[in-house]
Amino acid sequence: MVVVMSPEATDEDIARVVSRVEGVGGEAFVSKGVVRTIIGLVGNIDSFHHLNLRTLRGVADVHRISDPYKLVSRQHHSERSTVWVGPEGKQVPIGPDSFTFLAGPCAVESAEQTVEAARMAQSAGATILRGGAFKPRTSPYAFQGLGLAGLQILADVRAATGMPVVTEVVDARDVEVVAEYADMLQIGTRNAANVGLLQAVGDTGKPVLLKRGMTATIEEWLMAAEYVAQRGNLDIVLCERGIRTFEPATRNTLDISAVPVVQATSHLPIIVDPSHAAGRKDLVVPLSRAAIAVGADGIIVDVHPKPETALCDGPQALLGTELRELAQAVRRLPGVVGRVDASTLTR
Ligand code: PEP
Ligand code: MN
Repeated sequence: MVVVMSPEATDEDIARVVSRVEGVGGEAFVSKGVVRTIIGLVGNIDSFHHLNLRTLRGVADVHRISDPYKLVSRQHHSERSTVWVGPEGKQVPIGPDSFTFLAGPCAVESAEQTVEAARMAQSAGATILRGGAFKPRTSPYAFQGLGLAGLQILADVRAATGMPVVTEVVDARDVEVVAEYADMLQIGTRNAANVGLLQAVGDTGKPVLLKRGMTATIEEWLMAAEYVAQRGNLDIVLCERGIRTFEPATRNTLDISAVPVVQATSHLPIIVDPSHAAGRKDLVVPLSRAAIAVGADGIIVDVHPKPETALCDGPQALLGTELRELAQAVRRLPGVVGRVDASTLTR
């Protein structure tokens, strides 16, 4: 941490900062310039926070130089992590060596629709099935998901296809039941700062797919991940799903640079959701190609056997030509950036 003193700060002001820092066991290195003095602090950063140094006379600014998150940071864990999803024998990796393709319907609507979507996903090369049983809709009048019945359908489709399942949990009260059915728990953008829910999914020990809050900075997103990690669960996969900007041409703006930025600062895997970013099926294939090229550890894509009848997000769901194009991209491009298909690494 670095304390910047104002040009008017006196020797007494500087001495006050030094003595407060030393009072909590820290060291303070004073560097006097012609106009300003800066003080470098070494020691326990949390104890420095409690000092409220910014409130002291003569202090102009306080900067932290280490990451505010610890458990998810690469500063103490330089190797990038791999998260394994699914039951033993069918575990699929999401991590730095492989490329993982997750796909399925936005919402579970019926057994037939879900199994059809899963078959489409699987024949396009997807190894993990997505599908929402509890849907966090912007409108309270929109389809809210089948709930428990949807979880049962997902479990049946997993049994039929062998694909591990990721599904969203929207309420801390449902975490236990969703964790009974799901292989991976999804936290959606609308709940990405819900501390109680983050802690509750952390407590399950199940892998967590943590979407970026639609207005969250990368640092805020990693702090959300830190809440999960603090509960002893480091099986967290981050998902960039677009952020809210002024641009109305797409539903959200895919922040493709978030992928390498996150990878530079956190050891957690990161995947991209081009479907929820774009909100339009015609952009899903190009954005998926971009995600692979930029080094994402996977993509998660909406597919639906009849998008025109979908109860949720039909305009972004793929089938037919687009899905075939996506399958081709997923087969060819990961190898170009040095990754192998995750399905070849199943354990
Ligand atoms: C979803 O993936 O089903 C979803 C609701 O996504 P998001 O939370 O990113 O909007
Ligand atoms: Mn959706």
